Amino acid sequence: MYFSKKNNFYHGIMFHHFHDDKLHKSSQGSINKDNFYNIIKFIGKKNILDANIFFEKLKDNKLKDNEVCFTFDDAIKSQIDVALPVLEDLKIKSFFFIYTSLFEGKPDYLEVYRHFRMNYFNSVNEFYNYFYKVLDKDLKLFFQNNYQKIKAFKIKNPFYSIEDIKFRFVRNFFLTNDQYEKVMLSMFKEKKINPNSLIKQILFEKKDILTLDNLGHLIGLHSHEHNTFFEKLNFDQQKNSYEKCLSILSNILSKPKNEIKCMSHPCGSYNDDTLEILKDLGVELGFKHLMTVEPEKGMKKINNSFLEIAREDHTNIIKKII
Ligand SMILES: [Zn+2]
Repeated sequence: MYFSKKNNFYHGIMFHHFHDDKLHKSSQGSINKDNFYNIIKFIGKKNILDANIFFEKLKDNKLKDNEVCFTFDDAIKSQIDVALPVLEDLKIKSFFFIYTSLFEGKPDYLEVYRHFRMNYFNSVNEFYNYFYKVLDKDLKLFFQNNYQKIKAFKIKNPFYSIEDIKFRFVRNFFLTNDQYEKVMLSMFKEKKINPNSLIKQILFEKKDILTLDNLGHLIGLHSHEHNTFFEKLNFDQQKNSYEKCLSILSNILSKPKNEIKCMSHPCGSYNDDTLEILKDLGVELGFKHLMTVEPEKGMKKINNSFLEIAREDHTNIIKKII
């Protein structure tokens, strides 16, 4: 039984990575086609609304507590190759949230790096060790100072191991983007891999967006450059990012901008500025990353506003099934 006292409110189910026996290797948090079918069965097909129905019911204030929808973030190719055939088989129309720097030849290397660390090492911990070796910095004090925060993060995001979280803290807080990139690129070099050669295999092409749109799935915004800490950007930077994302998607889809009305917050990161910008752009539905109320964001209740709809991560659901 999927629904319990803890999740008895309408929300989205958040999917990221899928694997198969061919192009897409199994990686942290990824699921295969059979897992996906099982998740759908576990939630109950009748409780999963098509994206456009979920959207309409939200606007009309008619969503029931046991109604969910499916959402896919980050324009990850395995969603097209593995998840889409299942969605089409069961006729479930979903949301796909796309960041757009990808289509300007500047993909978020986060995915390329992820692919690298999951595919070119025997284990992810082997990657972490190699990374720390190349970085060559004393991190003892940093980990000590962040002990409480790391613990709190683990409670909020139980699907990450402590090693995963420590790595993310080093990447996000200890290093600047440039420093992180430098370490990663020297690792690529040592393994003799060109990161750009991996992109087509890992991320959407424009034609994938058109395919989804033609099939009746809903395409939405996910910012332009997928900044991990979007809320740290100032008002104008945030505004530029969403305006750019909107205009690129409307171009690809050959649709007026006011037909794109949904979004998800990259890495669940937003603040009051973000919400104001999105409202001004005519966005009418936004998803966050967590199933909890985040008082630090000014939230007073779950599904606090139409731009703060809760989502459950698929990795948490799969754990309940297995
Ligand atoms: Zn994302």
